[in-house]
Amino acid sequence: MSQTVVQNRDAAETNTKLDVELRKVFKVYNGETAVRGIDLDIHQGEFFSILGPSGCGKTTTLRMIAGFDEPTGGEVLIRGKSMVNVPPYKRPVNTVFQSYALFGHMTVWDNVAFGLRLQNCNKSELQTRVGEALQLVKMDSFARRFPVQLSGGQQQRVALARALVNRPTVMLLDEPLGALDLKLRKEMQVELSTLHRELGITFVMVTHDQEEALSLSDRIAVMNMGKIEQIGTPSEIYEHPRSPFVADFIGDTNLFQGRVETSNGADLQVLTEKGLKIWVKPNSTWQTEHQGNHSEVVVSVRPEKIRVGNSDTPEQHNCYEGKLKHVMYLGTHVHYLVELLNGDSLTVLQPNRASELPALDTLVQVYWSAADCIALPI
Ligand code: ATP
Repeated sequence: MSQTVVQNRDAAETNTKLDVELRKVFKVYNGETAVRGIDLDIHQGEFFSILGPSGCGKTTTLRMIAGFDEPTGGEVLIRGKSMVNVPPYKRPVNTVFQSYALFGHMTVWDNVAFGLRLQNCNKSELQTRVGEALQLVKMDSFARRFPVQLSGGQQQRVALARALVNRPTVMLLDEPLGALDLKLRKEMQVELSTLHRELGITFVMVTHDQEEALSLSDRIAVMNMGKIEQIGTPSEIYEHPRSPFVADFIGDTNLFQGRVETSNGADLQVLTEKGLKIWVKPNSTWQTEHQGNHSEVVVSVRPEKIRVGNSDTPEQHNCYEGKLKHVMYLGTHVHYLVELLNGDSLTVLQPNRASELPALDTLVQVYWSAADCIALPI
């Protein structure tokens, strides 16, 4: 590994400063607001993902950090410096796009060298830096090939090298693995993570793939309709979603709308619209912000927290009878769709322990603990 790379990593380990700050950033296109006043602090050395459904404003946010779009209001700062009127090529960032955007008539080497040549980099430095960038992405033995002679994954590695050769402070990645098939995508996720660890520089990635964001990121911002709904570590976002949108968007979940009937300081009892009584152990956010009875809530229960049993199931609060309406064998797990007697449908995911799968329409008990539910105010 080169000295520059080692220095970068050491800097990241000892530094808790901010690399990117967004202050009340807005973007309006032709009268339509794409980004609605977001605030964001991204720390030096972080792998930070912006996650959300199509059209929520992720790419627009990234483009404003890169300088390809100017905010309509608010301010972007990089390493504490305002980026107002700073063009993209003068910002200490480089962007990698889903489409690779390699020059087809140039070799891998020339593609990576292109930006440095424009900056009139001297020959020996050019040799060193291009060689170093290609080595980092394990493409040094492909230097003489043209993009058409490479696989999708290899082309994306060249695109990464072309960005890294400029030694950016921040790497911006716009759906970088979006064009790859699932297997290659998984392999490249590991490589991206290794590269981030080795370099120690800040990565900001836009993705709509929640699994990718959960597995790669130090922190995630979940966006919805131009706003940030929640910022947190992958486990905070998954285990403690702050809104029904985040609970539903991140992973699978069962959602029940209802109102709090009893709130005795310990557990809450929620009466759902279809008449289920669900006991919920409130988390700290609930106790401080929403203590009253009769408040409207959505209760979220993850499929893997629910158990399916027969009539011998131990009695507990959240235990209901239903019929198996769908059973899907997934190898390591079995996925069930259970229709409760009140008409609600539940999805359940259980480790595959049974030797035989139960028949459709079998009567079962489904049950889960109050601690495995989350009550989300609406
Ligand atoms: P996707 O995952 O589909 O790329 P996204 O979350 O990245 O979506 P953006 O590309 O940021 O979403 O777009 C946010 C909104 O802004 C969308 O409604 C989009 O149509 C609109 N938009 C984006 N770019 C422009 C533009 N150049 N002109 C007009 N409207 C735009």
